[in-house]
Amino acid sequence: MSDVVTFGETMAALRADGPIRLGGTMRLSVAGAESNVAIGLARLGHRVRWTGLVGRDETGELVLRTLRAEGVDVGHARVDERGPTGLILFERRLGDLVRVIYHRAGSAASFLSADDVLPALDPSPRLLHVTGITPALGPAPALAVRAAVESGVRVCLDVNYRSRLWGRDQAAAALRPLVSALSVVVASDDELELVAPPSASTENDRVAALLDAGVAEVVIKRGADGASAHTRHSSVHASARRVRVVDVVGAGDAFVAGYLSGLLDDLDLTGRLDRAVTTGAFAVASPGDWEGLPTRAELGLLDGRPESTLR
Ligand code: ATP
Repeated sequence: MSDVVTFGETMAALRADGPIRLGGTMRLSVAGAESNVAIGLARLGHRVRWTGLVGRDETGELVLRTLRAEGVDVGHARVDERGPTGLILFERRLGDLVRVIYHRAGSAASFLSADDVLPALDPSPRLLHVTGITPALGPAPALAVRAAVESGVRVCLDVNYRSRLWGRDQAAAALRPLVSALSVVVASDDELELVAPPSASTENDRVAALLDAGVAEVVIKRGADGASAHTRHSSVHASARRVRVVDVVGAGDAFVAGYLSGLLDDLDLTGRLDRAVTTGAFAVASPGDWEGLPTRAELGLLDGRPESTLR
């Protein structure tokens, strides 16, 4: 049995150190919000299954091979002939400002359906993790998310709004109906309004409305300002860990992996949030979306003196 099942689109990722239009060398890897979370959890020792569709191409093989190598179960993932594996390009502009370019419309993953996803939920995992990116990929993925969320398993949703994929109104219309089936909602402070009822106008109102709707935990990511988590009984805040910022992409996914790991380990709310800000900090302090995520043995590394050498 898996501790966590997740699904979505994972793409080939190419990173340039400067403007792409100038040419030069790019580094090839893979990227996808859900598979970033899956890798983060697997590194921490949890049993994780990721499922999705890749094209019949070499980048699809790269996606599956990478996830397998990280200990993620991809036994339900498959090749689909209807489109290629998606592609995401990152170009570094102005210091740590990174611009993202997608080539994912019509990709294999945009055909992901409930029939692809529901078998991966058998036997029922302890947690299902979904993001607000998947319903933005097309009608079939949106239905797949709906069916999975309503399958009766405990669900975490990371809102993960992507303005390149859809508008805020469309996102809210797709995500709000899911709320009554969610256990954990993770959002940035500006994403809460996409899941809370429109009548709630402040952050406190939005959190209260989500808890009233049956969500057990509302977790708010605040970038370099850390994060907060709320249940019906308590609210806690954790400051961000102080690290030298190398690459902020993937911080949110790393944070979710840490939070869910804490949940699976039965840590209290403070412990869950501490692990989340720690894994988030690992992501921003290392290049790549997921490459720098910690193993369980490495979780304490940030507690050491900065600049120290491990011998
Ligand atoms: P992304 O979409 O790039 O993955 P996000 O907007 O979903 O990011 P953030 O709020 O930027 O998520 O970051 C998630 C968590 O990572 C934060 O709550 C914080 O704990 C950690 N984090 C982010 N930026 C920093 C930073 N500069 N220094 C230390 N920790 C950070």
